[in-house]
Amino acid sequence: MSTLQAIRGMNDILPDASPVWQYLEGQVKAVLDQYGYREIRMPVVEPTALFERGVGEHTDIVEKEMYTFDDRGGDSLTLRPEGTAGCVRAALQNGLLHNQVQRLWYQGPMFRYERPQKGRYRQFYQIGAETFGIATPDVDAELILLTARMLDNLGLTEHVTLNLNTLGSSEARGRYRKALVDYLETVKDKLDADSQNRLYSNPMRILDSKSESTQALLDDAPTFDDYLDDESREHFETLCRLLDKAGINYTINPRLVRGLDYYSRTVFEWITDSLGAQGTVCGGGRYDGLVPMLGGKPTPAAGFALGIERLILMLETLNKIPASVFNTVDAYVIMAGSAAEEAGMALAEQLRSDVPGLRVQSHCGGGSFKSQMKKADKSGARIALILGEQEVQDRTVGIKFLREEKEQQSIGWDELSKAIQELI
Ligand code: ATP
Ligand code: MG
Repeated sequence: MSTLQAIRGMNDILPDASPVWQYLEGQVKAVLDQYGYREIRMPVVEPTALFERGVGEHTDIVEKEMYTFDDRGGDSLTLRPEGTAGCVRAALQNGLLHNQVQRLWYQGPMFRYERPQKGRYRQFYQIGAETFGIATPDVDAELILLTARMLDNLGLTEHVTLNLNTLGSSEARGRYRKALVDYLETVKDKLDADSQNRLYSNPMRILDSKSESTQALLDDAPTFDDYLDDESREHFETLCRLLDKAGINYTINPRLVRGLDYYSRTVFEWITDSLGAQGTVCGGGRYDGLVPMLGGKPTPAAGFALGIERLILMLETLNKIPASVFNTVDAYVIMAGSAAEEAGMALAEQLRSDVPGLRVQSHCGGGSFKSQMKKADKSGARIALILGEQEVQDRTVGIKFLREEKEQQSIGWDELSKAIQELI
């Protein structure tokens, strides 16, 4: 029988790789904790209508990237392509938004039918944060500071730049959109095919078109700054001031619009040039219009999502993974003979009870002393605990140091926990 394969663009994360994932997720969670964000877990599958309404019908995601299917009852369901819409749905459904401030985060797999390539997969992982109930730019700044701190803790600061823009109010955007379309109609034939298709459905997206010829045409387009409403301008200026005070560098990029319909005012992206085309590692912004669009009362909201695979690729490419991340075993127990095997199991259990956090791997499956030593070495453990017939008779354990020039020690069973605690 032929063996079955995973679906293209959906990857297994193998045990050799998972320590890096755990390291990255641990670093990100530690920072979210520092800022008082609380975790929310949503289902991976939602009603299709949630994304059609929440992400927007004329976005890449909804037009061509969703995994949508009818379940056995005939309901149209979609594997979530992003987390914000589901987070808003959950918050609304469970009454988390009424007269409250929320700082939430989530993590997990997202699904998009895209062409798989480096940094772009069909099942990929995000960690995201969403805040609700705060209209002022201080929380926009907080979200950016939080992501800056995370990137800094990971050693990536000098390899990323922060792009920042404001999309103004929906009225301002509406006025600008019209002016933009008026202009683009005059050069319609010269636009790339994608942009021509978007001209009436989602013209703002043309601003961040990847086509160079389209970008050149945009040099003569009306600029959004002339249409920006005063309140949004003040909001943006305050945000910039807060970031200046905090010592965060940024580039104001008037062509940054982001791919989803729900953004208003602040949008930002952390971009790297160390990954080639897939350069955005984190994106976010304000989306004051989304909660009412999903049936709630007007509620200011802002958040971000970061792509775990792209950050891991960065850590790998730039050699930023601490070696200790890969150490998953501290002590490896070697036992030769059946008396030693019995004593060894009890001693390993004793160690696990007495020394919190100690990672003890017991050899299982028998074999010669020599082959067990090889396995101990391969496990990455710092020490091997050795039990042979003689040790059992003497009620001692041999401690062999596998990574340092240090003489082997012999410790009595009763002193073992204390001795290991001091060693590790
Ligand atoms: P891109 O322009 O690269 O397609 P996006 O604007 O569609 O990104 P968002 O929806 O803002 O991405 O998602 C936030 C982050 O999730 C991205 O910045 C990226 O790091 C990551 N991401 C998005 N799509 C994928 C994917 N298909 N595979 C891996 N990571 C992804
Ligand atoms: Mg995309």
